[in-house]
Amino acid sequence: MDEDIEKIWWTFPRFKIETMVTGLELPVNLAFIPEPTDNPDDPLLYVTELYGKVKVITNNWKVHIYADNLLNYEPNYEFPGTGESGLTGICVEPESGDIFVSMIYEDNEDVKNKLVRLKSKDGLKMDSMETILEDIPSIKAAHQMQAITIGFDGKLYVNIGEGMVNPEVAQDDSDLRGKVLRMNLDGSIPEDNPNPDSLVYAKGFRNPFGARWRKSDGSLYIADNGPAYDDRVAKVEAGKNYGWPESMRQNSLFWSNLSQGITSLDFMQNGEFPYEFEDELFVAFFGSAYETGHAIKGKKIVKMKLNKDGSAVNSFDVFVRYMGKHAASPCGLSFGPGGLYFTDLHGEKNGPKHAASGNIFRVSSIIKAEGEITVPYTIENTSRCLCPGCPTRNECMRNRNQVLFCSQGKTECEVERRGCLCGECPIQGEYGLTEFYYCDEGAAKK
Ligand code: SF4
Ligand code: SF4
Repeated sequence: MDEDIEKIWWTFPRFKIETMVTGLELPVNLAFIPEPTDNPDDPLLYVTELYGKVKVITNNWKVHIYADNLLNYEPNYEFPGTGESGLTGICVEPESGDIFVSMIYEDNEDVKNKLVRLKSKDGLKMDSMETILEDIPSIKAAHQMQAITIGFDGKLYVNIGEGMVNPEVAQDDSDLRGKVLRMNLDGSIPEDNPNPDSLVYAKGFRNPFGARWRKSDGSLYIADNGPAYDDRVAKVEAGKNYGWPESMRQNSLFWSNLSQGITSLDFMQNGEFPYEFEDELFVAFFGSAYETGHAIKGKKIVKMKLNKDGSAVNSFDVFVRYMGKHAASPCGLSFGPGGLYFTDLHGEKNGPKHAASGNIFRVSSIIKAEGEITVPYTIENTSRCLCPGCPTRNECMRNRNQVLFCSQGKTECEVERRGCLCGECPIQGEYGLTEFYYCDEGAAKK
């Protein structure tokens, strides 16, 4: 399968993609345990499946059911539609290895959100479940309780959508919907919350699906989905109002005019990629549910370079793009051992919408072969590269934003040699390069 995978998932130059897990049923989010052991049979990561399972993947990449039947209703599989909710957010508590997950549940005629803590002696099978927070109204459609994270302050942060029906609740301080909540691990209110009598940490969100903490500024960043426009990324600060339902741009860092279905995000901050990618933000753009084929909206992962204080986006590049014909699309995303991992919610197969065809992929940096010259793939070098004006660079390369072939290696596009500008390029002299047609021959060598 991996031979084909490179053809259907385009990756940024000097990276490769591998299939790590297949056969999952609507895998939503994933969470690595902070310090995995060396034992092949011990847990490495957990994944939520939308319709009520948590699976654990061990160090030897075997998949086990950690918890099953966590929903107290039968999903109807309409996607998009009412089958779009269920079990979504997940995080691991580092001290105990317990797992927090978010879900909706039926309470007589009502649908509500809840947050639970799952406990296990060996990390492989749930032994007990404790409810941390419940009774918050929801519907079986979308905008439910989503991402859960544990902050650098040891508190639990919970993203919760506004429930779709009455978006104005996002501005109501007495309603927990449309908020980022902050709580102690047992669900109680920390004394230093913006309002010491309330779990509300920040308000004015619509459907804040993703969340992650950035080490370099100690802050929480979230992904929040707009109506048909203005999907956004925002840095969340105590007591701030993020504007919904009036605005999706208020206090936001980035927004997209086209609805891209932003789901999850993570920072490269533990050396998983080369240093030139340090502190870059990687964001999954899911797109439209169950849309097949290569799409303009979504179906990609982008990377953004933020400025130091997280008030502006300095660069934006497509990092992974789906090029196949099916429903595959990135949903959950997290850095883990050796690279960036993401869930592919629907999977590559066409078939029943609830078919167990979801995947987990890993994108990792390609180690250079001995003898290769390292031309760093930096913004500065890409801006100096003469490939964009070269007669050999064709539409296929342009569509993939490919330049700097002396660094990235050869293209997968067909090359018809019509001249090469490398001889006139400043990079050639600076790095002592002597070859031509790197787009056809591969990266520069000594
Ligand atoms: S490597 Fe040379 S031939 Fe290929 S696109 Fe760049 S300048 Fe043109
Ligand atoms: S040597 Fe060629 S591939 Fe490398 S930066 Fe210059 S024009 Fe681009």
